[in-house]
Amino acid sequence: MNSLRFIALEQLQARKALPTHFPGKRTSEYFGCQVFDQTKMQQYLSQSVFQKVLEAIQNGNTIDREIAEEVAGAMQSWALEKGCSHYTHWFQPLTGGNAEKHDSFFDLDKGKPIEKFSGNSLAQQEPDASSFPSGGIRNTFEARGYTAWDPSSPAFIYENAEGLYTLCIPTIFVAYTGEALDYKAPLLKSIARLQQTATEVCKYFDPNVTSVSPTLGVEQEYFLVDQGLYNARPDLALTGRTLFGHEAAKGQQLEDHYFGTIPERILAFMADVEVEAWKLGIPLKTRHNEVAPGQFECAPIFEEVNVAVDHNQLLMEVMEKISTRHQLKVLFHEKPFGKVNGSGKHNNWSLSTNTGKNLLSPGKRPQDNLQFLTFFVSIIKAVHVHADLLRASIASAGNDHRLGANEAPPAIISVFIGTQLDQILNALESPETISNLQVGDNSTLDLGIAQIPALLLDNTDRNRTSPFAFTGNKFEFRAVGSSANCGPAMIVINTIVADQLSHFKQTVDGLISAGDSKETALLKVIRTYIQESKEIRFEGNGYSQAWAEEAESRGLSNIQNTPLALKTYVSTQTLNLFQRNKVLSARELEARYEIKLESYFKKIQIESRVMGDLVINHILPVAIRYQNELIQNVKGLQSLDLPDSAYIVQRQQILDISHHILVIRTQVDEMIEVRKKWNAIEDHEHRAIGYCDEVFPFFDRIRYHTDKLELLLPDDQWPLPKYRELLFMR
Ligand code: ADP
Ligand code: MG
Repeated sequence: MNSLRFIALEQLQARKALPTHFPGKRTSEYFGCQVFDQTKMQQYLSQSVFQKVLEAIQNGNTIDREIAEEVAGAMQSWALEKGCSHYTHWFQPLTGGNAEKHDSFFDLDKGKPIEKFSGNSLAQQEPDASSFPSGGIRNTFEARGYTAWDPSSPAFIYENAEGLYTLCIPTIFVAYTGEALDYKAPLLKSIARLQQTATEVCKYFDPNVTSVSPTLGVEQEYFLVDQGLYNARPDLALTGRTLFGHEAAKGQQLEDHYFGTIPERILAFMADVEVEAWKLGIPLKTRHNEVAPGQFECAPIFEEVNVAVDHNQLLMEVMEKISTRHQLKVLFHEKPFGKVNGSGKHNNWSLSTNTGKNLLSPGKRPQDNLQFLTFFVSIIKAVHVHADLLRASIASAGNDHRLGANEAPPAIISVFIGTQLDQILNALESPETISNLQVGDNSTLDLGIAQIPALLLDNTDRNRTSPFAFTGNKFEFRAVGSSANCGPAMIVINTIVADQLSHFKQTVDGLISAGDSKETALLKVIRTYIQESKEIRFEGNGYSQAWAEEAESRGLSNIQNTPLALKTYVSTQTLNLFQRNKVLSARELEARYEIKLESYFKKIQIESRVMGDLVINHILPVAIRYQNELIQNVKGLQSLDLPDSAYIVQRQQILDISHHILVIRTQVDEMIEVRKKWNAIEDHEHRAIGYCDEVFPFFDRIRYHTDKLELLLPDDQWPLPKYRELLFMR
């Protein structure tokens, strides 16, 4: 059988693990060698310019053109020494991927060939923006958009192909009229706002704190399949997921893959990714198998949020590139395979002061606990108020398969904090506890909870079913999709926490002006927040039906699909929140809403088309051919005058196949009609809802019957690589 499937299976037998080339004996010797980091800046810049750039990074000061000129010269020298021929502004448009447009350093100076990189080229570029999504912000007559240098994320040199090096400059991407067309611009604003409010609140506890920044560590889950098998699955290649495939006899039921020995070919891939990541300054730390067969995970050491988001975007690009080198294909889709776990991207988030303190790490002294509780409880309160917005920030066609399914976090947003902290918050809630507290006139304050640190140290509470879990010294937002840019989720978390802290500060200051001591005021507000946000806390099994029912009675949302979830982006509460904190304007939010809706229905549309194509052109012809073979067989047996019982099985099989063919064909035809109906609708919101409610449900029905055919047809005639091959062979 000459199908791609069998060619791929044959090639697979010869695949070997590739050797890894380490650029040095120890990682620390070459970590960041491709990054224009502070060490290199110091080396290539004058002392005064270096100081100014540092200040700009730390305080968000703008860099004037003169300084940009010198930085550009320094970057160019470094990049040329490293063999770069080109530079690019590297940005994150609202498509979710990364974008770059390369320019050569080469130039002509009065006809004389030279290398040139000016301060202007570093600071600002004007890529042709017309084909990036803008959600209506950019009319074609003002199609201009520009990218502007973000000095807080270091420039780096990327090897696009062997020996081809490009200097990449992280930038924001904004419309000519000033609106953001990317994720980085609002992310930076949300970070600045959070820095401001968190620092103000921190001053209640420690006057030495001059800056507080959010930190992020992203655990990245992914699948790997053999490149040949991948190429033989048009659904994987075009939609990122398998639209068909009967589950393999063995799935994840034995739970023997998780943390198991990493297969050699995979380990070689991981090692190669790590080397490349380390060179680029991405501090990868862990690697292991995940729950599903063929599924793996890596995680870096956490960093400041803006850099961590850039690094995750870059890491995904590196993984794509390296997987091809290993004749593998990395899958970031949230649900590439039915009936086994999907993939997520756990966003570990915390707050860190310039004095090096993690604000979500409970301290040893009682007054540290008050500081911890201030931030801890404010975050819970923020999640309670804006749960629907958090849900919206992670909504996508791919993530719909995970959320609410029986595996990853449910679509209901709740917060898990562990038994001990749960008890502490419950105790703090009652007025008696508060009035019994000894709030002295000096700084000693006995909350009766001095034991927090000890308890948390051996806090082994792990609740994998919670979408937003406290894990000892950080919150872990687990509902982010594996293919997503972390930007939207981080923009929301930063902004809602900033907003809450601002409210906290106002309220506490009000109480102090009215005569309360600082400690009493802090405790009063903490207690109010605990009371008001109680409903969002849940310590039980997030997958259970009982929770869905309880959540409903608590008034928590359970938003099942993307079009419904996205609506929160344009609710009055959201518009006010983002405007109040100057992170996104109403116009920007509406544009994002439009873009996300459009992306949603286009994805479903593509899946629906690929499904129709695969069924009609790949699967049904094979089924009909085999059915014919059976018919010929029955006719042959009949001609021998054998009793009916001699071909009873064949007859039944012919009937079964006919039934599935008929259902599949009619369902596909109906799906096409429904698709046409919704394609005629101009309004994005309605079209997205139509695709969700009326097109999407065909997928399961068509798949069910196609997967039945997979079981009925001879293995050597089935055209698509099967689950057992995709998931287990490498
Ligand atoms: P687990 O989720 O099992 O606790 P780790 O402790 O390794 O796993 O943490 C997972 C991720 O959380 C890592 O990327 C780690 O760097 C990150 N992380 C740890 N501490 C913080 C922090 N204070 N802020 C942000 N991320 C953190
Ligand atoms: Mg984790």
